[in-house]
Amino acid sequence: MWADLAGIGRSAESGGYRRYAWTAADAECRAWFREQAEARGLVYEVDRNGNQWAWLGDPAAGDAVVTGSHLDSVPDGGAFDGPLGVVSSFAALDELRGRGVTFNRPVAVANFGDEEGARFGLACTGSRLTAGQLTREAAHALRDADGVRLAQAMEAAGHDPDAIGPDPERLGRIGAFVELHIEQGRALDLTRDRVGIASAIWPHGRWRFDFRGEANHAGTTRLADRRDPMLTYAETVLAARREAELAGAVATFGKVAVEPNGVNAIPSLVRGWLDSRAADQDALDTVVAAVEAAARERAQRDGVDLDVVRESFTPVVEFEHALRDELGKILGGAVPLLGTGAGHDAGILSGSIPTAMLFVRNPTGVSHSPAEFAAEDDCAAGVLALADVLEGLACR
Ligand SMILES: [Zn+2]
Repeated sequence: MWADLAGIGRSAESGGYRRYAWTAADAECRAWFREQAEARGLVYEVDRNGNQWAWLGDPAAGDAVVTGSHLDSVPDGGAFDGPLGVVSSFAALDELRGRGVTFNRPVAVANFGDEEGARFGLACTGSRLTAGQLTREAAHALRDADGVRLAQAMEAAGHDPDAIGPDPERLGRIGAFVELHIEQGRALDLTRDRVGIASAIWPHGRWRFDFRGEANHAGTTRLADRRDPMLTYAETVLAARREAELAGAVATFGKVAVEPNGVNAIPSLVRGWLDSRAADQDALDTVVAAVEAAARERAQRDGVDLDVVRESFTPVVEFEHALRDELGKILGGAVPLLGTGAGHDAGILSGSIPTAMLFVRNPTGVSHSPAEFAAEDDCAAGVLALADVLEGLACR
């Protein structure tokens, strides 16, 4: 399965994957999914939001155990983020059939559409629509960088865009969703574990900092006479690093816009975007408040005006404790629990159904990059853990 997927949507230039929603590469991934379902005699279907399903047992029976992930990628993404979960799901089903188990609940493998949001700018579009966290109107209004609307892209790929919307009836038939995913950090590597269980997805947000000073000549304006917002911005970037370290959180200024952006001009405006995430709300609030306080203090010294706007925010997602504890019991007590700073379909669906996640060790922690990697032994351990979980949940 891994070899079949390896070439799809891969850039020869970067070695990374460019599998964006409703493109030719996406269609190839989806065709692969369908082949895998049909080769195993599973019931294949596409739901109203374009998510793919492969069922073992009667989809209408209810209380189903669903596993899966996504096949799309970020620009120049790695091979594992998403596909590891889908491939492991099919492999876990094969493992269980090899064990000769009897299924007492329907089991399905799912591929959720447009998880990364690389093309239309909104992550987890497929699961969000299904869970009723994104309206049809809002989805229809999404456009890609070329101005193509999501509805047009869906239609061009053969999917009816007018059918999209909440799907409570489908979710009502699912008793548990378990997503396996490559870890996007080094927690498992540091504890030398192959597999871990997710505790929560960290709360995270994005804040825009507008530093306004005064544009002036870089050669003739005395230092003492300047109102240079770049200085304030620089101090704020350092404060973000410092405060994140103090709180055990992460904080990043990864995007910045400068006006007039001239090499010989003191800027009039520096606009920087802060992305911050922490294990809990208090820690996140502390970091952001401290960064803003440091920025304001420095702004005063620099004669700079500062506006801070929160542009987006996602609260903490605690995975259901009962299901999480059950996974722990099935896998034995030694499996570590870990939080994550990354969003997932499992996080979206956890608002509607009991949801859990398994993570597979990533020795470098690198993700969203062609360098993303997981060792074959660790991936195999992930498949066995997922098989044990599915057996524990669906075969008793
Ligand atoms: Zn992912």
